[in-house]
Amino acid sequence: MRILLVNPPRLNNIIPVTREDRCEVTDRYAVIPPYSLLWLAAILRNEGHEIEFIDANGTVMPYPELQSQIAHFSPDLLIFRFTPTTHAWDMKTAEIAKQISDRIVTLGLCFTLHTLIHEVLERSPSLDIYIPLNWETRVKQIIAGIQENRDLSEIPGIGIRNGNNILVTTEDNFIETTDFSSLSLPAYDLIKDFRSYRPNTPVSGNYMVIYTSKGCPFSCVYCTVAKTPFNLKPAEFVIKELDTLYSHYNVRLVSFFDETFTIDRKRTITICNAIKKSFPALHWYCNTRVNLVDPELLSIMQASGCRGIAYGVESGDQTILDTAKKGIKVEEAKRAILWTKEAGIKVYTSFILGLPGETQKSIENTLHFIHETLPHGAQFNIAVPYPGTELYNMAVKERLIAEQTDWRTLYQHKAILKYDNLSDKELEDARKNAYRSLYFNPRWILQNVLWIIQHPEDFRLGISYYWKNVKNYYWFGMEHAH
Ligand code: SF4
Repeated sequence: MRILLVNPPRLNNIIPVTREDRCEVTDRYAVIPPYSLLWLAAILRNEGHEIEFIDANGTVMPYPELQSQIAHFSPDLLIFRFTPTTHAWDMKTAEIAKQISDRIVTLGLCFTLHTLIHEVLERSPSLDIYIPLNWETRVKQIIAGIQENRDLSEIPGIGIRNGNNILVTTEDNFIETTDFSSLSLPAYDLIKDFRSYRPNTPVSGNYMVIYTSKGCPFSCVYCTVAKTPFNLKPAEFVIKELDTLYSHYNVRLVSFFDETFTIDRKRTITICNAIKKSFPALHWYCNTRVNLVDPELLSIMQASGCRGIAYGVESGDQTILDTAKKGIKVEEAKRAILWTKEAGIKVYTSFILGLPGETQKSIENTLHFIHETLPHGAQFNIAVPYPGTELYNMAVKERLIAEQTDWRTLYQHKAILKYDNLSDKELEDARKNAYRSLYFNPRWILQNVLWIIQHPEDFRLGISYYWKNVKNYYWFGMEHAH
């Protein structure tokens, strides 16, 4: 079968969009490689299909050009990813394919809306099939079904358009365990230019993201992947993947996109030792939890090229953390930030304002936490009740949102949850104030200037990071800012 995989264009041709399972968001600065599509491309190529791949987001390709490329390849099946807030924009991918030929089957992937299969298809008239979960196996099953002219309704957990009817095969949201040993490496050879990609500031050298695990065993109420089956890629598989990127594609900066990279301390150390020995010029970033690091581990990570860690701290108020089932203590977060700085690794923290129970006092506690710990960078979002999360159920039960809230408006810079004690404006102002109180804080500026003096290789990064934040604050009102 001729299969075209497409990462749709940037929102309004300007704002980059990250379309990965846990991370389906707009971000004014980061241009993230479409890892899952590259992985799917490898799986389908192994099955003998003819594959073409277009990253319109990475290459800043507008829709008219994408349309002529689709017409040129003339696929039987077009697979693309979409996100809740860019839904209408991303669906143009299916629309232009259908304008070319009604024969092209359009198949969309989006994790965040996995509890709303019917609604998604209802609002997407050009979309034939929606796969919310388990795309590693579902896509293969669908292709086999089409080729053998079988009834697709036997395939669980998908939505299918059949003329004017929409069929949701099963409503169960069971996420399968991924068998990494049976999967190939993502089809990195399909990337036309690695220089299209960057974390949220420009980098020298090629950049890539890697997932080394899937799922998360923790229970944070606001998170779309909370309590999903968790499994790790074996260290040998990760090292092979790094070797391919380092040796064949000259990648020198990697973001481990996993939710909790250091969850298996032993595996982390094995990967670190391999990086130190075999890929000495590689620098890397990762996400993890504040209770999954210690000084010894951080020192090993730094010695193997770790240059930044992003921690989800979420709040400086213990009651808010407990209600959100974050499973960490404020003191643990303070300690992890201090240890990370002491190890010579930059610290990025994310916070969520407006979680249940938030008050002006708890917001003050978060600001106090920031002033005390001074992370090198921070991201402040407003709580979003994504469908299927415990936060969503709490919000419906306590009437913090209307049951019919439009999922296309779930931006992380806008207040969605309605509280008696905090207005939308107060929450949105608190978010901007949090950015201002960190980035215009003389102690924070001094800390980072001293850091750059000690780490001159970060000079360009520091300047562009600061300039980005000033621009975000004064020109863009912190919209789509991460
Ligand atoms: S630790 Fe919490 S926020 Fe992070 S991925 Fe797991 S459930 Fe989500």
